[in-house]
Amino acid sequence: MTLSEILPTLGCSLDTRLEPHLWPRNVSRGPDGDLTFAGIPLATLAAGFGTPAFLLDEHDVRTRCREYRDALPGAEIAFATKSLAVRGVLRWMHEEGMSIDTCSSGELAVARAVGFPADRILLHGNAKTAEDLKAAISYGPVRIVLDSLDEIDALGTLGRHEQPVLLRVNPDIDAHTHPSISTGTAGGKFGFALPGAPGESLADAVRALRAHPNLRLAGLHCHLGSQIRRVRGYEQAVRRMVEVIARLHHEHGLAVPQLDLGGGHAIPYVAGDSGFDLRGFADRVRGALHYECSVHDVPVPRLVFEPGRAIVGPAGITLYRVVNVKPGARGVRIVAVDGGMSDNPRPALYGARYTARLVGRHSTAARGQAVVVGRHCESGDVLAETDLPEDVHAGDLLAVPCTGAYHHALASNYNLVSRPPLIGVADGAARMLVRRETEDDLLRRT
Ligand SMILES: *Cc1c(COP(=O)(O)O)cnc(C)c1O
Repeated sequence: MTLSEILPTLGCSLDTRLEPHLWPRNVSRGPDGDLTFAGIPLATLAAGFGTPAFLLDEHDVRTRCREYRDALPGAEIAFATKSLAVRGVLRWMHEEGMSIDTCSSGELAVARAVGFPADRILLHGNAKTAEDLKAAISYGPVRIVLDSLDEIDALGTLGRHEQPVLLRVNPDIDAHTHPSISTGTAGGKFGFALPGAPGESLADAVRALRAHPNLRLAGLHCHLGSQIRRVRGYEQAVRRMVEVIARLHHEHGLAVPQLDLGGGHAIPYVAGDSGFDLRGFADRVRGALHYECSVHDVPVPRLVFEPGRAIVGPAGITLYRVVNVKPGARGVRIVAVDGGMSDNPRPALYGARYTARLVGRHSTAARGQAVVVGRHCESGDVLAETDLPEDVHAGDLLAVPCTGAYHHALASNYNLVSRPPLIGVADGAARMLVRRETEDDLLRRT
């Protein structure tokens, strides 16, 4: 081990340091301190595919799938497709023995395009349209997670014989995340309410379900929200859900074979963020489930989990090219890049924070505060507040980590900017998973 590895800040810019938990597993520092991705310099990827570009570490994604399956043996792990709805990624999920959850006929179409088995697909949504329901029914035994009384009637009329369904329960739990991505508190738009809480009651849902004998109850579902760090909310959810299971079992003679606890497991985005303790989560949730089921004297249901962000988020980075640098207030430089809120609306939507790093050249300049802004016509179009070498200039490349989940998925054409490509990187090779949008693509619809 060299002295500069022991003391990474020694004699050079902090830019040579890498917080490993923020970057995809196969990103590493080359001999010159620059970053390589599965052995390919980031500057080479930028030259080959242009900027902005989303890059995704295939082995990292696959490893995260395996970590979930190892930590939760016997449970069903359903990747939340909405976090990155791309054919290539769903193929990896299939190969890794994962299930998937989907939220629309569009996401189902992508699953169908790769031949994803229907019995390993769930369909969610608080307002599924008739097209969504028909797409699921026509594909096969997709489990439909019922979210309203209207939907129970609609599916009861449309549904096939032995249509598997879950009931979404609003567990009324504050998971301590941003209100826009908190989905399990009372009075919200999702699911059926527990006794005493506002909303359509679970008791009415069970009654409606029984009026449609073609619908078969496969389980109960709840989802607390996203970017949740604490395990306590999930333990609380298990307690509330097993109480419901016990009532259905003892009072209605209804079996509940599956308990789906949704997703929402947090990832770190900036230095100092804590991650999600998957092993601790697995132990505590399974412990709570077995304890509660024995207290209530009900069979232990099979657990289902729906991680999205935690599977693909840390495996992605975005590459941008600096367009200009301006002095801002209080010595903070404004570094404008060739992307922005059209490829990452999360800072504008819910104050998400990111870091950015100069790549493609080595800088020994001192570092100073910078705000990385996008090219769009809004002042809220900010990508990262971070520190960068003071000599950062037009033409430089910046890499932003933790952009695998809800970036490609949330990208828009705002200002008629074309959406970036998604490049899968593995074993020294890069492969286009989604091509860059062209002006012809835009003109076709505009
Ligand atoms: C969004 C969502 C998920 C995935 O959430 P993550 O935070 O990406 O893990 C899982 N289940 C449901 C029902 C969702 O709406």
